[in-house]
Amino acid sequence: MTSVAQDRFGRVINYLRISLTDKCNLRCVYCMPEDMVFRPNDALMQDDELQTLVRVFAELGFSKFRLTGGEPTVRQNIVDIVRFIAHTPGVRSLSMTTNGILLDELAQPLAEAGLQRVNVSIDTLDPVRFKQITRWGTLDKVWAGIEAAERAGLTPVKLNAVIVRGFNDGDVTELAKLSLDHDWQVRFIEMMPFGDVATFAQEQIVTDAEIREKIADEYMPLEMADDGKLDGEARIYRFPGAKGSVGFISTVSAPFCASCNRARLTADGVLRLCLLRDKEVDLLTPLRQGATEAEIKQIILDGIWWKPWGHGLAEDVIPLTRVMSQIGG
Ligand code: SAM
Repeated sequence: MTSVAQDRFGRVINYLRISLTDKCNLRCVYCMPEDMVFRPNDALMQDDELQTLVRVFAELGFSKFRLTGGEPTVRQNIVDIVRFIAHTPGVRSLSMTTNGILLDELAQPLAEAGLQRVNVSIDTLDPVRFKQITRWGTLDKVWAGIEAAERAGLTPVKLNAVIVRGFNDGDVTELAKLSLDHDWQVRFIEMMPFGDVATFAQEQIVTDAEIREKIADEYMPLEMADDGKLDGEARIYRFPGAKGSVGFISTVSAPFCASCNRARLTADGVLRLCLLRDKEVDLLTPLRQGATEAEIKQIILDGIWWKPWGHGLAEDVIPLTRVMSQIGG
């Protein structure tokens, strides 16, 4: 079959974000409750099932893959998983979104296995606030992970920060200033509402415009780069003369749904068509029931065809069935 995954609006969908596990070694306040209950291991895609699905997606024209979670580095066999995905014909780009806690040891083996880049989540440079936001994390470990990623060539390193009013809205300028001396992209992600943590997210959201204003007041204005064109999902800004850049991912205040080229595969083998809508198509059950690869491809193509145009946050439609860690951010 040579079909390419395309939706009814003409968007070619060729970017798959795969959640390798719903488990995480942190409990960020905006992401999951501290007593989160995880799915049993046998409900998750096993390595061979993942391998089959990655091959099928690649044969449908998916060329860009990102591994996420939960926390992808806590998945057993993570290095082997990266190796087989990187060596799947058709896979051209392979990156990972991680909290960085285990990168100190894993960056080099992951790079050798074929991982190309990492995005590391770091919401503050203050150790006390870092602990408050992540509940269980240690800033030093993440910082060591970022340095290890750079040494291993997982570059350009991108740093993701979700800004939460009352927790880390005072940290935006220090975070943005990391781009002065490092060739990093510091990205501010607007907090999104999900299931149990939805009310929290809606009340504590800090918009990108507010973040830029604060940085301008406290340091200097950022200059828009690339005429404001999107780089993936981020709009890029720079401080004059800086080595790196500052990106804004304004999913809530300035959605980029029209240019969406992505789908998500959850750790339990479900194709999620929009991060912020609950429309999903189960792939793992038919695979386990003996569906052929041709049949799985048809299920994927049909699902992608009905990909929603965009999210419905403006109409108060919020995802209820899963939180971010169960989808793969
Ligand atoms: N554990 C990995 C990490 O920390 O990067 C990967 C999974 S995590 C769900 C992926 C990204 O989603 C992180 O940058 C995290 O901060 C972000 N995230 C989690 N919940 C979010 C929310 N409600 N709104 C916006 N971003 C969120």
